[in-house]
Amino acid sequence: MPVPGLGAYDPTNIFARILRGEIPCKKVFENEHALAFHDINPQAPIHVLVIPKSPYISLADFTAQASQAEIAGFFRAVGQVAKELGLDEAGYRTLANMGLHAHQEVPHFHVHIFGGRPLGPLLSRAIG
Ligand code: AMP
Repeated sequence: MPVPGLGAYDPTNIFARILRGEIPCKKVFENEHALAFHDINPQAPIHVLVIPKSPYISLADFTAQASQAEIAGFFRAVGQVAKELGLDEAGYRTLANMGLHAHQEVPHFHVHIFGGRPLGPLLSRAIG
């Protein structure tokens, strides 16, 4: 079910529960700003999610409310995760779904990293 990208943060969302250690994840990276783990339903040979440690609903919420240090730290982490996954040479795709039209499902901001095979043109499979 898609969720709105604005409004009050729901602390019961699945990524909040992962951050609190209430449910497990296949962690690939963690620092003070970000946690990265494998997507439970991978859409590419490598499909990793990077999430900020603090509670932001969406990209809109994160870019409006987070500090400069959080924003810089988070996006540096996205690049570092992709590098550590060995994706820099062949390339990869990042994606952040925001709100209803993008079909955001989890109301905690996250960036998808897809890689491990040629991914085709942008949105080639998403638009019917
Ligand atoms: P989005 O549509 O951008 O909100 O994507 C949410 C992503 O979270 C989907 O790709 C799901 O497969 C993934 N996901 C949902 N629950 C979990 C979980 N417990 N661990 C890892 N990934 C998850």
